[in-house]
Amino acid sequence: MATKTVTAKKTAPAKKDASAKKSTPAKKTTPIKKTSSSSSKAPAKQDAATDLKDFFEDALKDIYWAEKALTKALPKMEKNATHPELKKAIATHIEETQIHVTRLEECFKSLGIKPEAKKCDAMQGLLDEGKSIMEETKPGAIRDVGIIAASQKVEHYEIATYGSLAAYAKVLKEKTCLNNFLTTLKEEKNCDALLTKIADTALNTKAK
Ligand code: FE
Ligand code: FE
Repeated sequence: MATKTVTAKKTAPAKKDASAKKSTPAKKTTPIKKTSSSSSKAPAKQDAATDLKDFFEDALKDIYWAEKALTKALPKMEKNATHPELKKAIATHIEETQIHVTRLEECFKSLGIKPEAKKCDAMQGLLDEGKSIMEETKPGAIRDVGIIAASQKVEHYEIATYGSLAAYAKVLKEKTCLNNFLTTLKEEKNCDALLTKIADTALNTKAK
């Protein structure tokens, strides 16, 4: 394992800012409310899925919304990034994300249904968090670190989603969907690994 060395590049002003923030009193933690009955089941909506095919189609609409939202959010992240490697990684993933949208449209077509986007609350939350991270960091290495953290949360969400979708497609024998999900899943994993590499080799120590 590589050992970290303290370099002369460590910037004093950034450290001062960081320690100033530390003096802010900690927020009160809200206790987790106990539900009246742990065995009570959540009521299902009228159009709730009854089988795997229904659930699969719902999940497809969900990720379709998420990928489309990402085509709009990623360019903002790219603009805010400073490090050339990070900017390049995001630019490449914007192009891939546009293809992810197209692949999902192919999936809808192969299932014989119209492409429909259903708001994905989880992705909306991750994108909101990404926006706050950018507002809470000064441009430069520290904002780059924040952008990587936010982007990796997005990639992990996508990895989990495409992993599940691929498993359902396999059971349902939806071959076009399965191939498309696996191709996209590979690209999401590659993007995640590249972000880890950039953070480890170029940014985390610089932002210290
Ligand atoms: Fe994607
Ligand atoms: Fe992605």
